[in-house]
Amino acid sequence: MTPDLECQSLTKRFGETLAVDEVSFDVARGSFFSILGPSGCGKTTIMRMIAGFLEPTSGDILIRGKSVLDTPPNKRPVNMVFQHLALFPMMNIADNIGYGLRRAGMGKADIARKVEEALDRIGLPGIGHRKVDELSGGQKQRVAIARCMVLEPDVLLLDEPLGALDLKLRERMKVELKSLQAAFDTTFVYITHDQSEALVMSDRIAVMNEGRFEQVGTGQDLYYRPSTAFVAGFVGDTNRWFGRIERVEGDMLEMRTESGMTLRGERHGRALSTGDRAEIFVRPEAIRIAHSAEELEHFDNRISGRVTSLLFNGADSRILVDAAGSDEVAVNLPQSGEFAGLARGAPVHIGWSGAQGNCFASPEA
Ligand code: ATP
Repeated sequence: MTPDLECQSLTKRFGETLAVDEVSFDVARGSFFSILGPSGCGKTTIMRMIAGFLEPTSGDILIRGKSVLDTPPNKRPVNMVFQHLALFPMMNIADNIGYGLRRAGMGKADIARKVEEALDRIGLPGIGHRKVDELSGGQKQRVAIARCMVLEPDVLLLDEPLGALDLKLRERMKVELKSLQAAFDTTFVYITHDQSEALVMSDRIAVMNEGRFEQVGTGQDLYYRPSTAFVAGFVGDTNRWFGRIERVEGDMLEMRTESGMTLRGERHGRALSTGDRAEIFVRPEAIRIAHSAEELEHFDNRISGRVTSLLFNGADSRILVDAAGSDEVAVNLPQSGEFAGLARGAPVHIGWSGAQGNCFASPEA
């Protein structure tokens, strides 16, 4: 099936700034695609080009197989939801949702029917007569989406739409947005700098850095099989060590860290040789804790140290271990989350297998 959206070598320059650099991707019909990256990496610029508010320097944008570069924004089959929702405060909810349909010249009875259908789909039936300021933040968010969805765009663009909500509501809206997307069966392109939003909602995610896509894949691909050091460091929590390669055995590498430890990890990305500068990433949940070194003999990475911090956070509780007097290693606690027998200053042994360490080339400092 033709993808709903294809960007081909999309590039945007603002004077000296190369905001978007030869970005290519496609988004399958009815899927949830996110662009995840730090502030200033070029996410909004991509969205603005797709919506038609900005002209690309080069490259093409196709919606359902047709280039839209010559189509003005109001004629493109896309709609955009912004962080600040821009609902009209003087209009009631039904008039807000029906606004675009009225402008398109649809008759009153059809508009009323469409608005009621949309309110049903967003789980707020019968609230059409209410004023905008009588709704909660989450309800306003759903109305803003309904207002776009009644126009039946091929692609809905969402620019950090949860950014203005408080933490608790944001958590709930992640789940709701995903089910709204399924209910409307529309293609969503979502931009965010919040990796958890991207991981929870998306079918596929592009990780963006300095105008380029570093990797495109499922959340699991990015989390477990990062293809660049940037992705390994940006998606999910991780421990990170810099050093130099001491030994190479196929894809298994040994690295001497700057703090003097020898760690083993698996090579990702380009080939590495002895003496090369490198970095190893290890997730806190990949590391096991034991009271004696013998319990960890089957691991090829083992460190003895002392507990420096106990960080209780329910199921995500972890400890920090001071290893060889210099590096602090974050280690997730087993599921119980209790600090059984652990106290600040207590000696502890930690270990993990080399396959759990992702090793990448690192630029010379
Ligand atoms: P944020 O998450 O902070 O919104 P972003 O990833 O969306 O960031 P963009 O807004 O796309 O980033 O900006 C990418 C780069 O292009 C930045 O360096 C920015 O300063 C620059 N830029 C964006 N718009 C313009 C413009 N109109 N004129 C000049 N430079 C611009």
